[in-house]
Amino acid sequence: MNERDLHDGLTQAEAARRLKKYGPNRLEKKNKVSPIKIFFSQFNDFIVWVLIVATAISGFMGEKADAITILIIIIMNAVLGFIQEYKTEKSLEALKELAAPTAKVIRSGVLRVINAEELVVGDLLILESGDRIPADCMLVEDSNFMADESLLTGESVGVEKSSRTKNSSIYMGTIVLTGKGKARVIQTGMKTEMGKIAGMLQSIENDRSPLKEKLTQLGKVLVILCIVICVIVTLTGIWRGQDKYQMFLLGVSLAVAAIPEGLAAIVTVALALGVSRMLKRNALVRKLPAVETLGCTSIICSDKTGTLTENKMTVKAMYFNGKIYYVDKESIPENLSLKKAFTYCNDCNFDHSGDNIAKSLFGDPTETALIKAFFKENKELKGFLDKARRVYDIPFDSDRKMMSVIMNEGSKEICYVKGAPERIINRCKYILDKGEVKLLTSDYRDKILKAVETMSFDALRCIAGAYKDTGIVKGKGLEDNLIFIGVAGIIDPPRKEVKDAVLKCKMAGIRAVMITGDHKNTAFAIGKELNICKNQSEVITGEELDKLSDKQLSSKVDAVSIFARVSPHHKLRIVKAFKSKNKIVAMTGDGVNDAPAVKEADIGISMGISGTDVTKEASSMILLDDNFATIVSAVEEGRIIYDNIRKFIRYLLSCNLGEVLTMFLASLFYLDTPLLPIQILLVNLATDGLPAIALGVDPPDSDIMSGKPRPKNESIFARGLSEKIIVRGSLIGVCTVLAFIAGRYYGYDLTTCRTLALSTLIMSQLIHVFECRSERHSIFEIKIFTNPYLVGAVAISITMLLCVLYVPFMQSVFHTAGLNLGQWGIVIFFSGIIALINSLYLYFK
Ligand code: ATP
Repeated sequence: MNERDLHDGLTQAEAARRLKKYGPNRLEKKNKVSPIKIFFSQFNDFIVWVLIVATAISGFMGEKADAITILIIIIMNAVLGFIQEYKTEKSLEALKELAAPTAKVIRSGVLRVINAEELVVGDLLILESGDRIPADCMLVEDSNFMADESLLTGESVGVEKSSRTKNSSIYMGTIVLTGKGKARVIQTGMKTEMGKIAGMLQSIENDRSPLKEKLTQLGKVLVILCIVICVIVTLTGIWRGQDKYQMFLLGVSLAVAAIPEGLAAIVTVALALGVSRMLKRNALVRKLPAVETLGCTSIICSDKTGTLTENKMTVKAMYFNGKIYYVDKESIPENLSLKKAFTYCNDCNFDHSGDNIAKSLFGDPTETALIKAFFKENKELKGFLDKARRVYDIPFDSDRKMMSVIMNEGSKEICYVKGAPERIINRCKYILDKGEVKLLTSDYRDKILKAVETMSFDALRCIAGAYKDTGIVKGKGLEDNLIFIGVAGIIDPPRKEVKDAVLKCKMAGIRAVMITGDHKNTAFAIGKELNICKNQSEVITGEELDKLSDKQLSSKVDAVSIFARVSPHHKLRIVKAFKSKNKIVAMTGDGVNDAPAVKEADIGISMGISGTDVTKEASSMILLDDNFATIVSAVEEGRIIYDNIRKFIRYLLSCNLGEVLTMFLASLFYLDTPLLPIQILLVNLATDGLPAIALGVDPPDSDIMSGKPRPKNESIFARGLSEKIIVRGSLIGVCTVLAFIAGRYYGYDLTTCRTLALSTLIMSQLIHVFECRSERHSIFEIKIFTNPYLVGAVAISITMLLCVLYVPFMQSVFHTAGLNLGQWGIVIFFSGIIALINSLYLYFK
């Protein structure tokens, strides 16, 4: 492999050619969803089969028109179910695509982030700690490279890898534990070691939703209840001498209509639709159940840099030779040693072909800011970099909070170190003061710490630089006996939208907590600006945290708003402490070391831009824009979705209760059957399908973010929902029966009376669907037209009813009569009266 290859990688054209020839770097997918399978699974229901068989029998016995219509209704129901389920599967699939891994490659000399599927043999990969290796490769350049190959070998200890030893092969699916490297792709797709044992890797987990499980349980109870009632209705009918077949068909139809078979499925639809809405707001949900939990979030622990702040860094001040220089106020005297320390001990990439230095630097914003502070032009930087060659490095890591390099500057080797000031000072024995190396006395030390304190109170992020030119060893001991040079103070402004988001959290009873590796004062200054905290007493440092036992931490944690100078391993303790106080914790993370905390949190959140693959895989949600405000939007969506699920559960169950009760009451009071089987099925079709789905996408109540989060194990029927369902459902049933009796009272024939009952039942459900839109507000307060889907669905259902009532051919199929104005009066009265009373009650309350 020649130098040029190592530098420029493949050309785009060559990569495209290889991709075409050898195919994508993809493990074959198992069991894709098939639409046909989904369609037929709709009939995978015992009760539906009983209905089909019963219908077939009644068809042979002469009721042909009835039989055909029932079959058509069954098929239409299946189509509705199919649409729901297919949409769900499709959106889940789309989700998987989105969460697909990416890879950093160099092509035509430029660093690009591509979809890992586009990798081809020969590509030059850039790997960093936390990356999941996207193909089988050979390392060509590396430092401190360790891989976790447990996925392949089961061994969970890291394996050292190096291009200089025999152990230079790295494998798809394994993880870079530490260090970084460049690697050449040697196998892709099914030809990789991973491909040989394909199927082990699953990027998205379709965990079972607890809510869905609970509803499936509830569904089973309801099925039994419904069947019992249907049997009673059927038997009373037969006992009273009605036609056995008709009564049997009636019972089965009632079972089909009343059993809320869609309940659990519709929860998935609502969750999946919510997921796609969250995606529009830049939150990518990886685990469906997380959507439910999001709504209960009571604590959001967020990283500072990049999530609360913009991650757009600029050096604002420098401290050296005993003085703080402010960039905006004065010109800063040249300090060559500091310039070298910050430029050589720096991992950002540099595209030397362009002119504009701001556009030519890529990498960690802290590091690019340092370079921009010293260089205005590309040429100048290139000349400076060409004067020295890096021979060794220890990369930055947030636990150590420092980084070091050994540079060969022609005649000799010099070590440069940069990192958090306290850490650096602890390793310094000398100080460079106006060009002279002196012993670092406590006087000097105090002065430095004072300067750091001053800068950090101005919200500046401080980085110190140091060096040494003797006693240079590769490895342990390299960072001892350093010579202190100076400190840079970098500003990273808070994101604008965060302040509002924090306020929104407060109103919603959610606490925002900052977790940062930065200095206590810097963290406090930013926290104060964002209204995350008021007093210094709310800040605790990693050092203080280490002194607390888990129990002490847990008793203190409620009073802490900022954890400063913490390391990733502290995060796990913090999550556990909050959880021990029964809080539902959302926790962000980006680096590899954050993964355990992200996994432990109720909602693990990773960063789409700066996050590592390992953390993304451990998380249940990815922030595509790394923004804190997005977390709050996601929590809001979580609440909306949960609310909507409650809405349609309320609707479906009270309607079904109304249907069952109508038939039950009629048989109890020896009335004629108020509805024929075919009419019951029509009610089911007209009211259960579309309106319920439309409720699932209902816009939120305006006060959705102004209450406390709900407890995690709260029943879906809590806060009076079950009472609402029972009362309203019973009233629907009673009113329908009353409409039927009223018809009898006025002496109408049986067909007209049934038509009255049918219309009342349908109309009261269609009115009720609007009531279900809010638990706190009456029909008069909610704006009817804010959910156009619902208005559309209701319009379709009403049209359906009108057709059945007035189209002659339909009249004969559904055994109905066209109602006159007076009869409509009865319908409107009985379907509207309850809603009116209920709304008046809510309105005046
Ligand atoms: P957050 O957890 O909010 O993202 P952070 O990004 O500020 O916090 P770290 O990146 O761990 O946390 O940085 C902690 C400290 O380490 C910084 O205050 C700074 O002093 C030092 N530091 C940050 N980046 C570098 C770097 N590239 N090289 C050397 N030191 C660094």
